[in-house]
Amino acid sequence: MGVNLILLRMMAITVAVASVFSNSTSYAQSNVSAKKLFSSQILPADLKPQVYGGYTRGCIAGAQTIPVDGPNWQAMRLSRNRHWGHPRLLQIIEELSVKAADKGWNGLLVGDMSQPRGGPSPGHRSHQIGLDVDIWFTPMPEKRFSFKEREKTSAVSMLKKGSFYVDDNKWSQSRTELLKAAAQFPEVERLLVHPGIKKKLCDTVKGDRSWLSKVRPFWGHMYHFHMRIGCPAGSPGCKSQNAAPKADGCDKSLAWWFKSGLAPKKKAKAPTVVKKKPVKRKQMLLSSLPRACETVLNAAPRDLAAATLKVSDLSFAAPQIDMPIFDANKVLNSKARTSTKKPASIAVAIPTKRPAS
Ligand SMILES: [Zn+2]
Repeated sequence: MGVNLILLRMMAITVAVASVFSNSTSYAQSNVSAKKLFSSQILPADLKPQVYGGYTRGCIAGAQTIPVDGPNWQAMRLSRNRHWGHPRLLQIIEELSVKAADKGWNGLLVGDMSQPRGGPSPGHRSHQIGLDVDIWFTPMPEKRFSFKEREKTSAVSMLKKGSFYVDDNKWSQSRTELLKAAAQFPEVERLLVHPGIKKKLCDTVKGDRSWLSKVRPFWGHMYHFHMRIGCPAGSPGCKSQNAAPKADGCDKSLAWWFKSGLAPKKKAKAPTVVKKKPVKRKQMLLSSLPRACETVLNAAPRDLAAATLKVSDLSFAAPQIDMPIFDANKVLNSKARTSTKKPASIAVAIPTKRPAS
C-alpha cells in the first residue's frame, strides 16, 4: 500500500468516525446494538493485542489489518472494513499464501475477517474476536483487481448446480492441497466447508488423513472456506471452543448432513399458510459481551499505517487502488455473501438444533 493510499484511507476514516459517534459515552447502558457500536469503529483500539470472549460473543483490542494487496493475496469486499484480526492470524494468512503459491495456487482472495475492534458484524455469527477468516475457493487472478472489482466479482460455488455435491469440473487437487496446508498450522483449529466439500475430501484424500479432523462440515461455505485459529498466547480472556473430535469425520456425522442437515424444509400446503410477522432476532447489546469490550470500544484509535501488517517480502510493490471514502452506514448494512448472484435455488433449512461447528 502506497503512502498516498494510507493517507487517503486515514482521511476517509476520520470523516466517517466523526459522523457516527461524536463522544465517548457509557456504552454499557446504551440500547444501541453492539453491532452498530462496533461497526462504527473504523480503526482498532490502540492497545496491546488481546482477545476477549468467544468467537460468537467478544471483541479484540490491538487488531491489525492485512494490506489490501500482498505478493500472494488480494483482499476482497474492501468497503466492509472487515480485514482485521489478531497479529498471529495475519501472519498465518501470509504464510499460507506463500505455501499456496508453492502448490500451484496463484494466491489467496481474502474475504471477511473481523471488524477493527471485533464484535458482532452484519451477516456473521462468529468473526467477532479476530481469529476467523474466509478464504475464497477461487484463486487470485494474475491481474490486480480494482476497488470496484473487489466489490462486484462473484465467488464461484464448488457445488454442482442444484446439488449438495461437488462439481468435479470445479474442484481440483490444488484446492485439496490448499486446505491441507491450512490444516497443518498447529494454531488452526477448524476449517469450515460445505458438507459436499467435506465428502469430496473424505472420498479422495489418500495417505495422511489426520488433517481431515480439522475440516468441519457446515452450512454455506461452498464459495469460501472459513479458517479459525485457537486462542492466541497472551489472551487469558479468550474463550476457546471445544476441541474438534480426533476422528476424520467421514462417518455418520457427515451422513447426517445429507439426510437431514441439508434437507429442504417441507413446504406447507399453500392455502393454510398464515403469514407470520418475521421474528426479529434479539439484538446483542454491549452488556452481553465481556466487560473489557467497553474499554476496547472507548480506547483511542491506532492509526492505519501503524496497524497494518508489514509484508515480509520487502521487494513487493503494492499497486495503487482507487479506495473510496469509508461510509460507516454502508459497513453496517453490508451483507456477508461472497457471491453477488442470487443464492442457488435449493432451499436450505436451518434446523433449530445446530451441531457444534
Ligand atoms: Zn466465515
